[in-house]
Amino acid sequence: MLYDRDVLYIFPSANVNPKTYDRSLDQVWKKFLSYEYFLNIIMATFLFIRISPGILPIPSFISLNFVYFCIIISMIFNNYTEFNLAKEQCKSCEIGKIYNRVVLSDGNTMNPNVMVVGEAAGSSEVEVGKPFVGKAGKLLRATLNEFGFRKSNSLITNVIPCRPQDNKFPMDNQLILNCFNKWLRQEIIITKPKFILLIGAKSVKYILNMNGITKIRGKFVEHEIEGLKIMCMPTLHPSYVLRKEYMEEGKIIKQQFRDDIKKVAIASGLIEEK
Ligand code: SF4
Repeated sequence: MLYDRDVLYIFPSANVNPKTYDRSLDQVWKKFLSYEYFLNIIMATFLFIRISPGILPIPSFISLNFVYFCIIISMIFNNYTEFNLAKEQCKSCEIGKIYNRVVLSDGNTMNPNVMVVGEAAGSSEVEVGKPFVGKAGKLLRATLNEFGFRKSNSLITNVIPCRPQDNKFPMDNQLILNCFNKWLRQEIIITKPKFILLIGAKSVKYILNMNGITKIRGKFVEHEIEGLKIMCMPTLHPSYVLRKEYMEEGKIIKQQFRDDIKKVAIASGLIEEK
C-alpha cells in the first residue's frame, strides 16, 4: 500500500512543504534501517543466489521452500512497517493536532499470544514513546511478565495512540470510532493476535461494542473482525487496581486483575493450570 509520505519521497516536488518533506525523508531513513527492510534485502539476495545458478554458488541450506517462506515472512513484516509509519504521522483529528506524538504499539507484531489494549496514551507514554510505562504500566507489565508474557510473544497498545488533552479519554464517540477503525482495528487484522486482553471499560466498549466491564470481567468473549475470531478477556485497568490498593477491597481487586491475566496465559499455553 502506498501512503502519502511514500508519494512525497518518490516524487518530491518543489511544492512540497519543507517541513513535511524532512519528515518524509526521516521516515524513509527509519524504514530503510528497520529490520523488516533489512530482512527484505537478505531475502532478495537469497532469491538471486537461488535463481541464478552458475553466477554465484548456492549454499546447501538455501532451498526454494526456504526462500518462499522468508518472502512470506518479510511481506507480513512489511505490511506492519507500512502501517506503523502511516500511524506515526497521523494528524487526522484534533487530538493529533494538539499533541504531535503518536505512541506506537510495543512488542511482537506477528501473531502474538496476546494483544493488550489499554485506553489512551498518557504523559509518560508520550515521553518514552511506548504504551503502559507509568506506574500503572509497570504493574501491568510486571503481572504479564510473571505469567510468561514477554516482548517476544505479546503486543501492548491503546485504543487511542495519542495523548488526549488533560489525560482524559475524549468524549467524542465519533472521533474515537474513527481512530479505532483507522488504526487499532487494522492492527488487529494485520497482527492476528491469539488473544486480546482488554484493559478497562473503554477498550471493551470500542472492541466488543459493549458497555461496562463489571459483568464481563474475567470471562472470555469471542469477537470476530473480518472473519478473524479472537478470544478477548476484559479486565480491570491497573490504575484502578492501584487506586484501590490501600482500601478494604484492594486485595480482592488486585487478585481479580492477576487472575484474568493468568487465565489468558493458561489458555495460550504459556503456563499450566494448577
Ligand atoms: S487520536 Fe487517532 S485519529 Fe487522532 S491523530 Fe491520533 S492517531 Fe490520528
